[in-house]
Amino acid sequence: MNGLPLKMDLHVHTCYSYDATTTLREVVAYAKKRGLDGVAITDHDTVQGALKLIHKNSPLILPGVEVTTQRGHVLALNVTTPIPPRLSPFETIQRIHEVGGIAVAAHPTAVFKGGLRRQMRQQIVSSFDALEVINSTAFPFFLSTHLGRKLAVRLNLPQTAGSDAHHASGIGLAYTLIEADLDVDEIVRAIKRGAAVPVGKPIPWKIRLQNAVSSLKRRGCKRAYSKSSI
Ligand SMILES: [Zn+2]
Ligand SMILES: [Zn+2]
Repeated sequence: MNGLPLKMDLHVHTCYSYDATTTLREVVAYAKKRGLDGVAITDHDTVQGALKLIHKNSPLILPGVEVTTQRGHVLALNVTTPIPPRLSPFETIQRIHEVGGIAVAAHPTAVFKGGLRRQMRQQIVSSFDALEVINSTAFPFFLSTHLGRKLAVRLNLPQTAGSDAHHASGIGLAYTLIEADLDVDEIVRAIKRGAAVPVGKPIPWKIRLQNAVSSLKRRGCKRAYSKSSI
């Protein structure tokens, strides 16, 4: 690796998620604006948005998906095929590995986000490649982050951070510093060996409220795309 670590937001939703508004064009614009080297696109149970963005090189797009399992959410990174939802966490992790991805426990310690922590048995936990210890939308943020870090240290698992932005303004609120060159395979290997430092802050209440209102007006990707060349 040459120079500074990469700054990557490893948890970003687009309008391909049923509950997000960010267009693909906004993903690119806000990633640049926030000084990110790349973002992981992790829509709920679909890779459509990630696949559309993957051919654009700036910022680097790490394709992924946030898989709904029987017991909470699992981030699949470096995945370009959908992973079936509502499997057990263990089976989900296996499927992710089969297609060459890495499995990250999403917001495992957030109280109101259906994290995996309470139900996680040792066998499941040890199969994860990393834990998302900072998630900007997790609530309560500081407690979730503290517990997430503690859990990752206890389990000796690498730590990641992501904004979990469902609206463009949230992109980059949290990011992971990764010691790797700008290459998807290298980035994934670096995360797996723990060459990653999570950084981030909570989504401000003002934006949280604005997002709640704009969610009601959500139009999805089709309308959002009619004016976009991406
Ligand atoms: Zn989630
Ligand atoms: Zn999410």
